[in-house]
Amino acid sequence: MLDKRKFYIGGEWVSPIAAMNLEVLNPATEKPIAVISMGSREDVDKAVEAARNAFASYSRTTLEERLRLLERFLAIYKRRYDEMAETITLELGAPITMSREQQADVGVGHLQGFIDALRDLKVREELPNGDVVLREPIGVCGLITPWNWPINQIALKVVPALATGCTCILKPSELTPLNAMLYAEMIDEAGFPAGVFNLVNGGADCGAALSKHKDVDMMSFTGSTTAGIAVSKDAADTVKRVTLELGGKSPNIVFEDADLEERISASVADCFNNSGQSCDAPTRLLVQRSVYQRSIEIARRAALAAEVGDPMKEGTHIGPLVSAIQFDRVQTLINAAIDEGANLIVGGPGKPEGFETGYFVKPTIFVDVENGMRIAREEVFGPVLAIIPFDGEEDAITMANDTAYGLAAYVQTGDPKRAERVASRLRAGMVHINGAPHRYGSPFGGYKQSGNGREGGKFGLDDFQEVKAIHRPDVA
Ligand code: NAD
Repeated sequence: MLDKRKFYIGGEWVSPIAAMNLEVLNPATEKPIAVISMGSREDVDKAVEAARNAFASYSRTTLEERLRLLERFLAIYKRRYDEMAETITLELGAPITMSREQQADVGVGHLQGFIDALRDLKVREELPNGDVVLREPIGVCGLITPWNWPINQIALKVVPALATGCTCILKPSELTPLNAMLYAEMIDEAGFPAGVFNLVNGGADCGAALSKHKDVDMMSFTGSTTAGIAVSKDAADTVKRVTLELGGKSPNIVFEDADLEERISASVADCFNNSGQSCDAPTRLLVQRSVYQRSIEIARRAALAAEVGDPMKEGTHIGPLVSAIQFDRVQTLINAAIDEGANLIVGGPGKPEGFETGYFVKPTIFVDVENGMRIAREEVFGPVLAIIPFDGEEDAITMANDTAYGLAAYVQTGDPKRAERVASRLRAGMVHINGAPHRYGSPFGGYKQSGNGREGGKFGLDDFQEVKAIHRPDVA
C-alpha cells in the first residue's frame, strides 16, 4: 500500500500537523491502495500562508514567464501521461482505455486551451473614453474538486490560477487524491516558485476551512449542489468571489427528423460513459411521440450491448462506481423509479452477474418516465437513463427547461434551423447539436442551480482576474 500522507506546501512535501489517516480504496476490488492524511484547519492555515507569501512576487511575473512555466508543465504532463491514466483507473475505476483516451487526455487539452488563451490575453486596455483598464490576478484561490473527472476539474481550476498570476491551494476529493498528488509532482518539476501551488488533502471540514479563510480571495468549487451551497455560505462572511460548477439533469431532445439509429445509440453511450458519473451526462432522453417506440427499441439494443468489466482490461466497457456511498445512492434512485411507476426495460437494482465484489451497477433504462418523478429530477450519477415522450417543439422546450439545473442540453434533429432555434431557448450553459463534442477553450458551466462562472479557455481566465479602472486626467 502506498504511503501518501504528506501535503505539498510551500514547494515541499510536508507531514500533516496532526495525523489523521484515510485509506484510498480501489472501487473495483474494494481493497486499499494507499493511505493519505486528512488535513485540519491548521494545515490549511499553513498552506494559505505559503500561498499569500508567494502571491507578492508571483502576481508580478510577466505573461511570458508564466507561459514558459505552463509549457514546461505541459511537456512533463505528456511525459508522465500513462502514469496519470493508470492512477485514475486505480482510484476511480475508469477502464484503462477510457482513462487514457478521455480522463488523462483532458489534462493536455485544457492546459493547451489555457496556453492559447493566455497568449491572446489583454492585461491592459484603453477605453474610448481615455481610461485604462487593467486585468490583475485576484489573489489566493481555494480550489475544491470532486472525483468523477478528477484531472478535468483540477486542470480547469489550477491552470487558470497559475496562468493569471494567482496562487492557490488545491483540496482534491478524498476519494481520488492520488492523481492530484501526481499533478503536484509535475508542477513541482516544472519549476513554479515555492508556494504558488499547494495541495492539502481532506474532506468537508478541510474544504470549509478554505472557504472561511480570511486570507483566501476566491473559492472555485466543483461538486454537489449541497456542498456548493455550503461553500457559498462559508465564503459570504469574507465576501470572496465564488465560482461553482455543480450538478445537472441534462435533457437530450430527439426530434422525429433525427438519424434515430445513430443518434439514439450514441446518446445511450454518452449517458453511460464514465459509468454515468458526469455532471453534463444526457440523462433525460426526451423523444418525439411519433418515433417513441422505435427509439425505445434502439435504446434497449444499445443498453444490452453495453458491457460492465474490469477497469484494468482494455476495451469500451464501463467500470464500477467510485464508492459504496455512490452505489447506495444509485440503488436508491433506481428503486424510487420502480416505486413511482417508471417502466424498467434494461438493468435494474443490484450488481451485474459476476461482479459481486466492487461497486458495479447494471446499465439501466426506464421508459414512460414522467418529468415529475425523482428519476427525472434528481442527479443519479450512475449509468441510468430516463426516457420521456413529448408531442411538439414547444412541449419539448418546456419539459427540457423544467428542472432546477441548467448545465448542458442536447438536441438531435436533421433540421439545422430548428437546432439553433431550440438551442437558443434552452436554459443551459452548453448545448450540443447532433453529438458535437465540448471543445477545449470553449466555456464550460451552467445556468440556475448548476452553478456560477465559466471554466476553460479565455472565459476561465476571466474568473481568476480582477478588473481595475484607472481614470487618467484629461490630456486635451
Ligand atoms: P461533494 O460535493 O460532497 O464533494 C465534492 C468535493 O467537495 C470534495 O472534495 C469534498 O471533500 C468537498 N466538500 C464536501 N462538502 C464540503 C463542504 N461543506 N465545504 C467544502 N468542501 C466540501 O460530492 P460527492 O459526495 O463526492 O458526491 C455527491 C453528489 O455530488 C454526487 O452524487 C453527484 O450528484 C454530485 N457531484 C457532482 C459533480 C459535478 O461534476 N458537478 C461532481 C461530483 C459529484
